[in-house]
Amino acid sequence: MNRLGALAQAILILSFPLADAATFPPFGIQQVADGDYVHLGQVALTTPENAGDIANLGIIIGNDAVAVVDTGGSVSVGERLVAAVRGLTTKPIRYVINTHNHPDHLFGNAAIPPDATFVGHHNLPIELARRGAYYLHSYREQLGAAEIDAVRIIGPTLLVDGERRLDLGGRPLRLIAWSPAAHTDCDLTVLDETTGVLFAGDLVFLQHVPVMDGSVTGWLSVIQRLEKLPARVVVPGHGREVVRWPLALNDERRYLTVLAQDARREIAAGTPLERAIGNIANSERNRWQLFDDYNPRNATAAFSELEWQ
Ligand SMILES: [Zn+2]
Repeated sequence: MNRLGALAQAILILSFPLADAATFPPFGIQQVADGDYVHLGQVALTTPENAGDIANLGIIIGNDAVAVVDTGGSVSVGERLVAAVRGLTTKPIRYVINTHNHPDHLFGNAAIPPDATFVGHHNLPIELARRGAYYLHSYREQLGAAEIDAVRIIGPTLLVDGERRLDLGGRPLRLIAWSPAAHTDCDLTVLDETTGVLFAGDLVFLQHVPVMDGSVTGWLSVIQRLEKLPARVVVPGHGREVVRWPLALNDERRYLTVLAQDARREIAAGTPLERAIGNIANSERNRWQLFDDYNPRNATAAFSELEWQ
């Protein structure tokens, strides 16, 4: 091999670790308010191409320290979040607040420097113990082997039962662990009391059809209390915009109301589940992205929940 050939080969080898990162679209960060930033994930299913960059992630900067709200659906996404924080400030990441147990929100946890404290709903450790191994198995295909092998299930050590305040230095955060089960059985929200920015996790969906892994009646009852929070704007768990509060709840509340109403109607009519699924929340089809990916599952869950009431 001549010198030029050897050089070309050396460059090829050197560029390998960077090639992966180069295939991702730029990791956008938007400022929402003074000290509050968001990365808006894609409205999409997890694929090896997007590396699970499908959830919205928050960065909150106080006088002394930083909190991140969720870490994304892979370690690559978590690393890019940490890099984004480093582009904004040299203050340490003191808290990682996980809004619930779903992989697209916490598979990036392993990318966070280990001196950070992980914070979550008091039910989050139980949910991760129950489903963590299953998540690692079932996401192997969706994420690809390299990404899934890097993932570690890291649960919270600081648990929230009811309400809890954290302070980043002149920047009090009001955390609420919601019950009963709504989107999941471990939904947590973060309100930046200084700016009125609410990081709602998946208690708020925009554009992306709501995904129901908890309870439809529980979610509707949580919304009634959630909407009273003194927030100015909300960062939804999914959806590519930050919206005025509580206006942002309108679409989701309508969807969940229709989901419950239609399920009750099918149950009352004695329709078997297999046929009922296609009749539940059909009027919502054109209002949401990923409708056919999630609505049948939501319809099944709502039917099963309401069947015995
Ligand atoms: Zn979720």
